[in-house]
Amino acid sequence: MMQAGYLVAPGRVELRSVPAPQAGAGEVVLRIRAALTDGTDLKAFRRGHPQMPMPTRFGHEFSGDVLDAGAGVTRFKAGDAVMAVHSAPCGECYWCRAEQENLCERVMETKILGAYAEQLLVPAHIVERNAFVKPPSLSYEAAACLEPLACVVHNLSLLRPRSGDLALIIGTGGFGLLHAIVLRALGLRVAVIGRNAERTALAKALGAEWGKEMALDPQSIGEARALISEISGGRGADRAIECTGAVNGWLAALATVRRGGIVSLFGGPPPGSTVPVDTSRIHYDQIELVSPFHFRPQDVRRAYQLLAEGSIDVEPLISARVPLAQLGDAFVRLEHGEGVKFAVIP
Ligand SMILES: [Zn+2]
Ligand SMILES: [Zn+2]
Repeated sequence: MMQAGYLVAPGRVELRSVPAPQAGAGEVVLRIRAALTDGTDLKAFRRGHPQMPMPTRFGHEFSGDVLDAGAGVTRFKAGDAVMAVHSAPCGECYWCRAEQENLCERVMETKILGAYAEQLLVPAHIVERNAFVKPPSLSYEAAACLEPLACVVHNLSLLRPRSGDLALIIGTGGFGLLHAIVLRALGLRVAVIGRNAERTALAKALGAEWGKEMALDPQSIGEARALISEISGGRGADRAIECTGAVNGWLAALATVRRGGIVSLFGGPPPGSTVPVDTSRIHYDQIELVSPFHFRPQDVRRAYQLLAEGSIDVEPLISARVPLAQLGDAFVRLEHGEGVKFAVIP
């Protein structure tokens, strides 16, 4: 038997004793060493999630040690430290063959949840394509950042950032701050706006030249425009990256990008939301809108390289380490605006 964290109702987490998993052919059982909290999990904790009917195991950013490798697994053996993401595309559907594996029609239904637990069964399709041996130089907590970093790397392929560009990041959650780390490493000048003063300060500590606390309500769109105008000599941001998933964030991104710039709509607003757009701004100012979703295996490999080479340091995003028994408390703390990511150490 083993302990696993369940989300049983909005705001309620329980630890349950469940049978320990067994590795079938091609599969691997990990003893989880670190599982990170993430915005999707927090959203589910607050109000439930359509793809996570409760009670549900949850947690999808993880690293661990191989307890057992099933028949036919050649890439890993018992004792190996492993980092992986929680999904892999099927490789066969229309989207996979069109090189849009992030949109694979099976990638969401075959993903795994349940990293907030002592053990996790990693299925064969993930073992084959989206799992790696963790280098000893990398902590288990940093290694568990592979999944969010893969999302950011996928964004880069659409955002096409250039060294020296001015990037505005809207939102200071884990993804906004991770973008700040990556874009700084690529040589961009970074401005960050967000609602949380501590996290805008953290963005500056991570290398953002400008970090400003803003309500991100309709009034702050003008405030954001004034800030970027001042920084850029009236031109606007070369790249605007929206990481709040709120309509006001989308509007702020559209209002601050320069002529010929690129807006990346990284955060997803609730289904049914609509955004009023000035068509002349899109057409005559030739603003390119990109909307990255999820990631492809090549993004996961690149994210792995960035972490393994030590090109970026994600440790500052880990606010605290907590035992599995404090999983519920960690989400309550996040709900109150405390911390960025908590590492759950079973
Ligand atoms: Zn597919
Ligand atoms: Zn995540």
